[in-house]
Amino acid sequence: MDTQSQVVDRLRSAFSSGVSIPEQFRRTQLTKLMSMIKDNEELILNALHKDLAKPKFEAILSEVDIVINEAHYAINNLSSWMKPEYASTNLATKFDNCFIRREPLGVVLIIGPWNYPLQLLLLPLVGAIAAGNCAVIKPSEVSAATDALIAELIPKYLSQDCYTVVRGGAEETQALLQNRFDHIFYTGSQTVARSILQAASVHLTPVTLELGGKCPCIIYEQKNITGAARRLVWAKFFNAGQSCVAPDYVLCSPATRDALVPALRETLENFYSKEPQNCPDFSRIVSARHWTRLMELLKESSGKVVFGGESNQEDKYIAPTVLVDVAEDDALMQEEIFGPILPILTVESLKKGIEFINRREKPLALYVFSEDSSVVNQVLENTSSGGFCSNDGIVHMTLPSLPFGGVGSSGWGSYHGRWGFEAFSHRRACMLRGWALERLNSLRYPPYQDDKLSWLRWTASQKSSCSLM
Ligand code: NAD
Repeated sequence: MDTQSQVVDRLRSAFSSGVSIPEQFRRTQLTKLMSMIKDNEELILNALHKDLAKPKFEAILSEVDIVINEAHYAINNLSSWMKPEYASTNLATKFDNCFIRREPLGVVLIIGPWNYPLQLLLLPLVGAIAAGNCAVIKPSEVSAATDALIAELIPKYLSQDCYTVVRGGAEETQALLQNRFDHIFYTGSQTVARSILQAASVHLTPVTLELGGKCPCIIYEQKNITGAARRLVWAKFFNAGQSCVAPDYVLCSPATRDALVPALRETLENFYSKEPQNCPDFSRIVSARHWTRLMELLKESSGKVVFGGESNQEDKYIAPTVLVDVAEDDALMQEEIFGPILPILTVESLKKGIEFINRREKPLALYVFSEDSSVVNQVLENTSSGGFCSNDGIVHMTLPSLPFGGVGSSGWGSYHGRWGFEAFSHRRACMLRGWALERLNSLRYPPYQDDKLSWLRWTASQKSSCSLM
């Protein structure tokens, strides 16, 4: 078996040969990636069920179809993405050919997490292939069944010279990171992101970081509480709350809380029955370690459980749980929950809610439920977050026409659709000069004179391009 550095060398020679660059090659690989998923849908669903008890319905929406749609979208748009983008000129460069050329970065590394183990590895891979790169992909060892399946399937479908899977945990990933890559695309926790950045700094490798954080959900001036409860419960408890864009906590007035709690209870019972542990539509916590972490958070919280709270260690089950009377300094408010626990905090006013959000790190997603569009606009205009969605949760990230990514500590860079192609492309600024307007261009040469400088300043100004030509 090749060592990690041999693997990277092999991909580097393939990239240097130019094999991954032609549009037709990219199209073929993207088509094969789609076939890989379509041909093996049953195996994929089984692996996801083994790892997270992921319901088939959720797995098809969030792992299978989302990747197929992304690849399809890339194939449909590839020609236009690859076209040079023409740039405007000024008077001195009027007859030059100025354009931005998207070029592949080279050999890239994609590191994925366990919560959507297929989607979060293969969606970036679509961008990497579309942009003409070679790629090493490193699935999460925590979602072991999906990890093994990806390692088995990728070499059967994609070019082995250009794309390869390296498996392992923290130690193997650290060893892999010793190699020089042309880009690292990391999805996971903020803690590990710091060590990824340290490793990247050795080779000055650029990175995309898709991280997490606590995504707030503010409910204000919302009369249809049942409607809000249904959308909120779906977004929060999809994948048992193990979504980076899951609403982490709710901020609302005491009156809204009093109306929301019974609506949440009714919705949770409708969605997952009175015995969610027996409901096939509710996932499990991925590992014993994460189960323990969540149970400790619950134990340390001073909030009052108004729904759920039951658990089963052997089954890695935690019931959909809602808490009220949660204070800002509560254990549940110190880190991203990343599980089926929803704290509700009360605030005196919308302004206080906005201030609460702005006291914290910028979240990956921010949600507001309100029937009053001025409330939605007020939250939108006075906060910052990676993405924003009103009157729903998660749905904004399903569109390939919207960039997906964080801001500040919730992530650097973005992807999905065109932005995935951009994340893995270098925008090369190109100017193909001719010999026109030589007298004008000669003004820059010494001996320097004030009148030459005045002319030059004018030719380079915005005014010059439209006023003379
Ligand atoms: P993680 O950081 O523990 O692991 C992610 C990847 O990093 C895995 O492949 C793992 O093998 C590797 N890894 C773990 N320790 C490492 C180390 N010391 N050095 C190098 N590599 C290491 O993250 P996770 O627990 O798999 O995922 C949960 C986190 O990811 C949450 O914070 C969540 O919000 C975030 N997340 C973000 C997005 C997004 O798109 N922004 C999506 C999913 C998850």
